[in-house]
Amino acid sequence: MLLVTEIASLKNIIKAKKQKGLTIGLVPTMGFLHEGHLSLMRAAAAENDFVVGSIFVNPLQFGIGEDYEEYPRDLENDTKLAKSAGCDLIFSPTVKEMYPSGYATFIQVERLTEGLCGASRPGHFVGVTTVVAKLFNLVRPNRAYFGQKDAQQAFVLIKMVEDLNMNLDIVVLPTVREPDGLALSSRNKYLTPGQRKEAAVIYKSLKEAESQIKKGERKTKAIRENITKSILLAKHAEVDYVEIVDCQDLSPISTINKGRCLIAVAAKFGKTRLIDNILVEV
Ligand code: AMP
Repeated sequence: MLLVTEIASLKNIIKAKKQKGLTIGLVPTMGFLHEGHLSLMRAAAAENDFVVGSIFVNPLQFGIGEDYEEYPRDLENDTKLAKSAGCDLIFSPTVKEMYPSGYATFIQVERLTEGLCGASRPGHFVGVTTVVAKLFNLVRPNRAYFGQKDAQQAFVLIKMVEDLNMNLDIVVLPTVREPDGLALSSRNKYLTPGQRKEAAVIYKSLKEAESQIKKGERKTKAIRENITKSILLAKHAEVDYVEIVDCQDLSPISTINKGRCLIAVAAKFGKTRLIDNILVEV
């Protein structure tokens, strides 16, 4: 497996693969890889001739006071894991390589980025869409792989690809979880043992909401209140948002109608902000 840090070398390698007619899969990540990331890499390896994983803690998508500096990094272990999952190349540029001095171009998807994490983390999605657009231009993948864990991110990137007529398919794959239901996340490393135990309440509350809906509840206010109540039973928990939104435009809904809706939660355990979601079909 190749480890590439410079844009010029990446471009040369990609050009050669394209000339050979190979299909390319891309898995963008911020590293500190876990089974969630690896499931995307395995899928990319199964569906493409050449797989590029990117590892870049993108400063543009972190707000002031967020965890950019503390974000866990372990490139050596990541390269081993990526190789075992079928990656052919890891692209891990420096911040200067991606945003040289004088950098001035940003991509913004409107509306879909207004609620949920967009409301709690102003500027976050501009950072995400800008870095992902740059990676798409550099790697020119046939397919790019993202996790359902970051549901709003996936919706926003699908919209960017559609609106900018980008020539690739976005593949969204299921959230990989710990045995107690907690969604895998590089940020889980921040949790103390007590917080880690409590954090399982997020998924538990989402599953309770799902069964409430299956039993016939259609008013989202009651469902959201129950989720909040369940999460707040945990001693270290603070709720950032609990939303039930339409799957087309991510706007909040008051009544669940036929079709699919997304229940999304962001909660803090100590200083650690975790997100999770489920799609519910009625
Ligand atoms: P990150 O490194 O956190 O930016 O995540 C990189 C990619 O991995 C994104 O597409 C995430 O949605 C995806 N991902 C993160 N955690 C999980 C998980 N638990 N299951 C599936 N995909 C995940």
